[in-house]
Amino acid sequence: MREPDRRLLWGRAAGRCSICNTPLSQGATEAGDLDTPIADEAHIVGAKPGSARFRTLSDLERDGYENRILLCPSDHRLIDRQPEAWPEERLRQVKGEHEAKMRRRTDDADATEPFPVFRPEPFEMPPLYSGKAIADVIGGAGLHQFEYDDPKNADQRDATRAFITAASDWMDVWDVIGTDGRFDVDENMNDLNTDLHAVGLVAFGAQTSVKVDFWGSESRMQLAAIWIRRIDLIAEEERSGAEPPPPSGDGVAE
Ligand SMILES: [Zn+2]
Repeated sequence: MREPDRRLLWGRAAGRCSICNTPLSQGATEAGDLDTPIADEAHIVGAKPGSARFRTLSDLERDGYENRILLCPSDHRLIDRQPEAWPEERLRQVKGEHEAKMRRRTDDADATEPFPVFRPEPFEMPPLYSGKAIADVIGGAGLHQFEYDDPKNADQRDATRAFITAASDWMDVWDVIGTDGRFDVDENMNDLNTDLHAVGLVAFGAQTSVKVDFWGSESRMQLAAIWIRRIDLIAEEERSGAEPPPPSGDGVAE
């Protein structure tokens, strides 16, 4: 493949497998091994007669960006062993959706249109009592939805803002922080959660799968939903017997 094509392929896929989204590099090891890309620049239309999805193309077409899809080795094996399940059109669609998703996630958040999220299936949002529980909600989610009760004073507002900002920041860097970094998330969110409790607030949350519409093509993503509630309002609702409003997942989540 020519170098400009290779750069396009890697850049647009954000260095991730177009099927399973796994980052395609293995970090440097303590034993001294270098950071290494573990990826296949797979052919969509096979390179040789008899190979998966083969049809005659010019050399330039066959080896260029248009006919390649960036994959992890196991998904490369899968598409070549099961070409009936992975025809050319499906691979082009998967590649296009993956690139669109990566572009969306790396664009400046202020400069992009929000994209619609379908209403998720009803889901429980239990109280989050530890940093670990909060990390489990935000970890690996591609979308978030943060709600909060109207703060009744400046302390509540500050604690809410600090909590939501940190949760959002950790989500953004989740994929690159590694195992060690996850302990930092636990610790940081645990501290911020303690601050919430100190001012009469409690965080509820869950991670759930939602259908997302990317310009007409549907896919599924993980949504981290967190709702910071005032303890006095919860108590009032319990006294009056009112059902708290269900967490809503419609509208825009990011
Ligand atoms: Zn993969």
